[in-house]
Amino acid sequence: MPDVLDTSPTVSRVLKGELCSGCGLCAAVSDGAIEMQSTPPGYNRPVVRAPVSSAAEALIAQSCPGAVVASWPGEAHPYWGPLRRTATGAAGDEHTRFEGSSGGAISGLLVHALETGVVDRVLHIAPDPRDPTRNATVVSRSAAEIIARAGSRYTASSPLAEISAALAEGGRMAVVCKPCDASALRRLAARDERVGRHVPLIVSFFCGGIPSHAGVGRILAAMGVEPAAVTDFRFRGRGWPGDCVATTPAGEARMSYAQSWGGHLSREVQFRCKICPDAVGGVADIACADAWYGDDDGYPSFDEEEGRSLIIARTEAGAALLDAAVAAGAVSVDALDPGEIEKMQPSQARRKRLILARVAALPLTLQPRPRMSGLKVLAAARLAPPMEALRNLVGTVRRTLQGRRSRL
Ligand SMILES: Cc1cc2nc3c(=O)[nH]c(=O)nc-3n(C[C@H](O)[C@H](O)[C@H](O)COP(=O)(O)OP(=O)(O)OC[C@H]3O[C@@H](n4cnc5c(N)ncnc54)[C@H](O)[C@@H]3O)c2cc1C
Ligand code: SF4
Ligand code: SF4
Repeated sequence: MPDVLDTSPTVSRVLKGELCSGCGLCAAVSDGAIEMQSTPPGYNRPVVRAPVSSAAEALIAQSCPGAVVASWPGEAHPYWGPLRRTATGAAGDEHTRFEGSSGGAISGLLVHALETGVVDRVLHIAPDPRDPTRNATVVSRSAAEIIARAGSRYTASSPLAEISAALAEGGRMAVVCKPCDASALRRLAARDERVGRHVPLIVSFFCGGIPSHAGVGRILAAMGVEPAAVTDFRFRGRGWPGDCVATTPAGEARMSYAQSWGGHLSREVQFRCKICPDAVGGVADIACADAWYGDDDGYPSFDEEEGRSLIIARTEAGAALLDAAVAAGAVSVDALDPGEIEKMQPSQARRKRLILARVAALPLTLQPRPRMSGLKVLAAARLAPPMEALRNLVGTVRRTLQGRRSRL
């Protein structure tokens, strides 16, 4: 291979196949040749601005989650991945619990990791000060900063676009990121030993997918709010699940989580998420999710409750942090039988069962697909009702031919 390439063949193939998750890793490792940009309808996507070195291309080919997804280590549940500890719980501090997306468990764990010296900072996501409906990658160095940045933000985030600069700074950081970002970071670790040295903690969450920024546009339109007038925008949190709140000089406009996610955001989720073989943060040290209570029909109820997170420690480092945080009162937990997780997360289980059928449709339409071994895709597919799997295979073929794959 020449030392420098006109472009990144991996990025080109991934973009063509709509397999980019927007993680930002390719930009980070390219020495400025690749930049992340918001592209219509509002996904973060790489743009190649200058020749890409073959060393950078090798890192991208090895780590890009549109090309290859990190395997789950050791024994793993077909839906929920490696399970070292499973619990429900919340931040011990009531303010953090209230501010958090579900129970504030991620923020409670991060504060404990910071205050006990496990890490010296946290790389995570917060509202972009230039446009609070979008996301920025930020570094928190105090408990107050971590808590101020609690809450899920259901629009494009590219935390790994900053990872090279963060690794160059040294020290010990926690990285909070989507499962696809965690996959990219673990794969990068195999080629860049600084990841193991400077990132002792990867924290992730169950992920229903990243909606484009058009999802925010739909919410604001339904609220009757002018986008340019927004001074603060929270997707949820401040209660569980908590309302979506747009703040303007005229006051606050609110929308329930059921309406904002179910009626708007979920309709704008990118195609890569529809074939995501690890949307549960299986390679993170700890992954959290909503520990929804079921309604009378067994489906999650979004009635307001005191926040409750599902907490899964997956590695020794994750279990050690969870145990220490519980002992110190930073997080309170109740043990959970893994058999209960499906009642809290039926749509994650359903999607995992259908990944094989959807992915099998891609070569039939001459589309590329990410490599995904060691993720129990076949074991999960065996649990799918055959007719539903067939409908998904045919549906993926049809929508691919129609150019409407995001409608899966
Ligand atoms: C795009 C997205 C999809 C999700 N889908 C599901 C789902 O299908 N099922 C489910 O149970 N839970 C889902 N969640 C996670 C859930 O909303 C809660 O984040 C999770 O339960 C943790 O809550 P917490 O109170 O412990 O976290 P908090 O204490 O509120 O901390 C949240 C942390 O996540 C970081 N963060 C917020 N938004 C992003 C982002 N876009 N990218 C990277 N980091 C971010 C923040 O910086 C913060 O550190 C999703 C979250 C996101 C962002
Ligand atoms: S998934 Fe990440 S590494 Fe791959 S092309 Fe997209 S932004 Fe780049
Ligand atoms: S569903 Fe998968 S690909 Fe999509 S944002 Fe979440 S982890 Fe990434």
